[in-house]
Amino acid sequence: MNNEFLDFDVVIVGAGPVGLTLAMRLGLHGHKVCVLESQEGIETDLRASTFHPPTLDLFDEQGITSQLIEAGLIAPTWQVRMNDTNEFAEFDLSILKDHTNHPYRLQCEQWRLSGFLRDFILKNTPNVSIFWGHPCTSIVQNQDDVVIHCENKALEKINFTCKFLIGCDGSRSIVRKNLKLDFEGQTFPETTILATTLFPFQDHLHHLSFINYCWTEGGTFSLLRLKNLWRVSLYPSLDESIESAVEINSVRRKINQISPSFGDSPVLEVRPYKIHQRVVNQYVVGRVVLAGDAAHINSPSGGMGMNGGVHDAFNLAEKLNSILNGESMDLLMQYERQRRPIAIKHVIEQSAKNRARMQEKAMDKRLFTLRELQKKSEDKNLCLAYLLETSMISGLVESFKIE
Ligand SMILES: Cc1cc2nc3c(=O)[nH]c(=O)nc-3n(C[C@H](O)[C@H](O)[C@H](O)COP(=O)(O)OP(=O)(O)OC[C@H]3O[C@@H](n4cnc5c(N)ncnc54)[C@H](O)[C@@H]3O)c2cc1C
Repeated sequence: MNNEFLDFDVVIVGAGPVGLTLAMRLGLHGHKVCVLESQEGIETDLRASTFHPPTLDLFDEQGITSQLIEAGLIAPTWQVRMNDTNEFAEFDLSILKDHTNHPYRLQCEQWRLSGFLRDFILKNTPNVSIFWGHPCTSIVQNQDDVVIHCENKALEKINFTCKFLIGCDGSRSIVRKNLKLDFEGQTFPETTILATTLFPFQDHLHHLSFINYCWTEGGTFSLLRLKNLWRVSLYPSLDESIESAVEINSVRRKINQISPSFGDSPVLEVRPYKIHQRVVNQYVVGRVVLAGDAAHINSPSGGMGMNGGVHDAFNLAEKLNSILNGESMDLLMQYERQRRPIAIKHVIEQSAKNRARMQEKAMDKRLFTLRELQKKSEDKNLCLAYLLETSMISGLVESFKIE
């Protein structure tokens, strides 16, 4: 294939949930689309597990939502808990019923969404091609097209051309780096240790929800349930290295502090990760556009990153469809105007607040926050406003009002 140019309307770099959502939507509009993915298949690492109501609403039409619901677990409530006293504030999402067809969070692995999207694309949109094992190495933008260079495993150089290139290639985006854009923000000092287990916490901790953000003496953890297992987010002890914090004995010791009945129950998987908070200074440079983690990253607290990226993809697909059907390229700037402020104001700010709340160590401040949250959860109007925001409904509605 050396020196050959493969031509498409749109090339998407990255077959994560955002790239595949965009490919599906553009494919359904009938455009000739190619997705370039560096891996040989879908990444199955432990990442997003929470789907918010508007994301489920958006995927409904294609039948993806019913597949997610079948594979996942409906979480009608979520809690902030004081582990040592079993006090909690619980938010019931059924209050959102007039604002969404899915008034709950859905707990399901992100890779399942990617799998459903890939299968949908293969079955329903022959105009979309996915090139697995094809990392994009560089891009060149011209007046009327973009050229993308790839090198596959056999070290063959393959070139693609397209009218629009979309970087959905995650936080280390090569597309963003090629555009030399600033990815402004910070990396938080803590490392989170994510562990999974089949241990039935629900039988051992009083009135547990499927989603629990917990304070414990001197620290914090979260307990998120998936259909068949629990995900526990832990933190290294003071002066503990990351290497020793990921060791099975250290993970077990910390889980035993949460629930002593855990004993030496099996731990299935352990993964450390750092938390970043960044947004790129521009989403659009000519014919090249960024979406998802390539454009914005945030603390996973509250489960908003993938959801926000999927909302980008739905928005961008409609703009690209209109442009490919003859409308002005200015619509790309409207995508940036509609999505970048929402990432900053609603996703990054809210997830930073969620993180800061749980990182608080002072008992009096924790108790004050807990009481405030309890008041919110019991007052209909306050609860509705808070859940519209934290369930990402307000941000999505606001984005569409921006001209
Ligand atoms: C522990 C954890 C928990 C999380 N929980 C949640 C949650 O509950 N809810 C939520 O909404 N979000 C959550 N997130 C965030 C979520 O995982 C990300 O926001 C999401 O993966 C972003 O999707 P994406 O498609 O933009 O990028 P990615 O998922 O990173 O996909 C990018 C793709 O691009 C490919 N790629 C990269 N470089 C190249 C290249 N040069 N050429 C070709 N392909 C390339 C990669 O292989 C990858 O497949 C969590 C994150 C973490 C780490």
